[in-house]
Formats: sequence, C-alpha cells, structure tokens
Amino acid sequence: MRKKIVAGNWKMNKTPSEAIELAKLLKDSDTSKCDVVFCVPAIDIIPVGEVIKGTGIGLGAQNMYFEDEGAYTGEISPKMLVDAGVSYVIIGHSERRQYFAETDESVNKKIKKALEYKLIPIVCVGEALEEREKGIAFEKIRMQVKLAFEGISAADAEKIIIAYEPIWAIGTGKVATDDQAQEVCKEIRNVLNELYGGVSENIRIQYGGSVNGKNAAGLFAMADIDGGLIGGASLKDEFKDIIASVK
Ligand code: PEP
Repeated sequence: MRKKIVAGNWKMNKTPSEAIELAKLLKDSDTSKCDVVFCVPAIDIIPVGEVIKGTGIGLGAQNMYFEDEGAYTGEISPKMLVDAGVSYVIIGHSERRQYFAETDESVNKKIKKALEYKLIPIVCVGEALEEREKGIAFEKIRMQVKLAFEGISAADAEKIIIAYEPIWAIGTGKVATDDQAQEVCKEIRNVLNELYGGVSENIRIQYGGSVNGKNAAGLFAMADIDGGLIGGASLKDEFKDIIASVK
C-alpha cells in the first residue's frame, strides 16, 4: 500500500521572515494520513526547518546541483541540503527545464546524486499543451521517465517520487480532469513496470497542476495518483484542506 504524499512547492515566494509566518500558519497540517512536505526556497530552508521541527512535516528543497562541492558559483549541493535538515528535493520541475536549461541528462545526474545523499527526489515530468494536442503526450512522458531513471537500480527507484505535472495545468487554474491525470499516471506506472517489474507498484506518483481544496479529493482518489505537488495553493491555509482531502 503506497502512502500518499502532499508536497507544497513554494517556488520563488516568501522572504525568510515571510516564510517563518507561513510555516507557522501551516505547521499544524495533519500528518497522520499522508506525508506532508514543504519545498521552500533555499534561503528559507533553515528558518522554516526551525519552525516545523518535531511536527512530522518534511523539509524539501526545489533544486540542487549534481556535484558534492566546488567551484560552481550560485549552486547548492546535496551535502549542504542534508546538513541543513532537508529530506526531499524537487528535481526537473518544468520551470527549471524551461527557464534554466535543465535537461533529461542533468535531471538523471541530479537524481543519482540526491540518492547518494539519501535525499528523496521528487522528479517532475509532464507534457506541454501542443504535445497533448498533437497526441504525443504519452511519448514525451515515457521518454522523460526512462531518461530520468537511466542507470538507477530497482532498490533506488523505489525511493523516488514522480510528480506528473502537465505544463498547461501549472499555475493556470486549468486542472487536468481526474481521468486525464489518472490515465497519464497509469502510463507512468506502466513504464516503471517495464523497467522494474513489480517494484513499480511501490513507487509513488503525484499529480501537480492547479490542485486546490476543491479538486484535490477527486484527484487523490484515483488508483494511480498518490498525492499531489501543490504550487499556488501551498502558500495559503487552503493547503491544509488539500491535505485533509487524502482519504
Ligand atoms: C507546481 O509548481 O509544481 C504547481 C503544480 O503549481 P500550481 O499548483 O500553482 O499549478
């Protein structure tokens, strides 16, 4: 039985003092039915970590580099994240692929490095609107998953979380229907089954893209959707309603 996971992606929002306020607002989120994670901007990791200490809420980062340390100005290493109390790291978010030249190859390197440090990668995949309209969404996602997991053992694959995030649904208010989201998450599990056999049943797959307090319950009830990666609605009290939608 896969445990559901609801993670907030705060993106580039909240200064350290604002982040402390938001973490205080959300720190009584119910962690009894699912894993709950706050993926916060790098500069907010330490102050938010202090606020959520002892609550059961996991601390996550939004990116990392694939080297241990060195002359990579501006980057953050997995070693730094672990030392700061981070357990999860988002890898390959579509905004990073779109604006910061993240590639399937760098995503794969980052996943491997994160696993080396026992960080849990939340790996994002998803199709653009024109890919969906051309009927190549499955093809795109199958390829992203295969390249992300290249060279990763079954034992490690089980630790990874996949977030299916159709690009057309991120921050647009246009949520995928329950059936659309389920169809793709099922296809992702099929790819994982081709790669890892029965282990695919243990890998958690989230849906992300305009999830809110009203549509979360329907999405989370689908057979292959194991929770959500939440952007905009993770910055407000509504995040608790989304968590409460997990049955
Ligand atoms: C995201 O950033 O991962 C996301 C899903 O954003 P939103 O919920 O705002 O669409």
